[in-house]
Amino acid sequence: MKIIDLFKQNRPVISFEIFPPKPDVPLDTLFESIEGFKKLSPDYISVTYGAGGSQRGRTVEIASRIKNHYGIESMCHLTCVGHTAEEIDELLLQMKQENIHNVLALRGDPPLDQPDFDFSKGTFRYANELIEYINSKHDFCIAAAAYLEGHVDSKRLDEDRRYLKNKVDAGVDLLITQLFFDTRLYFDFLDRCAQLNINCPVVPGIMPIFSSRIKNMTARSGCSIPAKLVLMMDKYENNSEDLKKAGEEYAGLMIRELLDGGAPGIHLYTMNKLQSTIEIMKIAGLR
Ligand code: FAD
Repeated sequence: MKIIDLFKQNRPVISFEIFPPKPDVPLDTLFESIEGFKKLSPDYISVTYGAGGSQRGRTVEIASRIKNHYGIESMCHLTCVGHTAEEIDELLLQMKQENIHNVLALRGDPPLDQPDFDFSKGTFRYANELIEYINSKHDFCIAAAAYLEGHVDSKRLDEDRRYLKNKVDAGVDLLITQLFFDTRLYFDFLDRCAQLNINCPVVPGIMPIFSSRIKNMTARSGCSIPAKLVLMMDKYENNSEDLKKAGEEYAGLMIRELLDGGAPGIHLYTMNKLQSTIEIMKIAGLR
């Protein structure tokens, strides 16, 4: 099934994102969590793609298990950095063979050990080129990434949004946003999208705060932390359990506010944490 069809049912589409464990870690623990995720009735689960294409086999393997064993719709993330067109074809073919029809098409980040990586040397330089390619040869529901506060590399917000518009026009069915912590940013972004004639669903991506490590993640991705969250993190800096609980509550309330405000769905970055996901869904009134 194509995930975009779920958005035609006039109810919020709830998705969970998971990541493959490290190559030397067996998949059993992850599969136990998926069993638990299933009880929360997500509309689909997406599986990330390791930076630079690492563990790419695992992405398809896990997405296939979600779809074909657990009976939950799945989506594979796919990054084009460092890949030839033939490699992309091969991966898409594997997905088709596993009955997976949904892909989150991304440029990807430079490999960690190559900060000066030259994107222009690859077959695909930006996500819009990958999206155009997929649409020219394959039949997939295509999601793409959107950045409420602009992508961290972009020099100007309006330029970043023009590139987003190019990307959508290349054949995107839905957008999923990067993490953010202020719901006003999302609603404001929807207004900007309307001005640019971006009419596909824009699904807010929610990253719960599980620990103070979130500061590193936000620094890398260039997204801001509102003052009230800074105060919350300061308050619980010596109590990791209370910080986790406060983070779950913050995420749950954000989800409620976004859905009440008309968001077409929620994409929850679960970080593979089942118990926290259960708590967040309860707080958001989705359980
Ligand atoms: P693009 O849309 O290509 O944009 C990248 C940059 O180039 C932006 O600054 C943009 O403004 C600029 N740009 C775009 N087009 C042009 C143009 N024509 N000319 C000049 N500049 C241009 N990464 C992973 O490795 N694995 C994952 O599984 C993964 N999952 C993700 C899931 C979500 C929901 C999100 C939001 C991000 C995810 N990422 C993942 C991170 C993503 O790969 C990085 O943010 C990456 O740096 C950008 O990817 P993109 O597809 O948004 O790139």
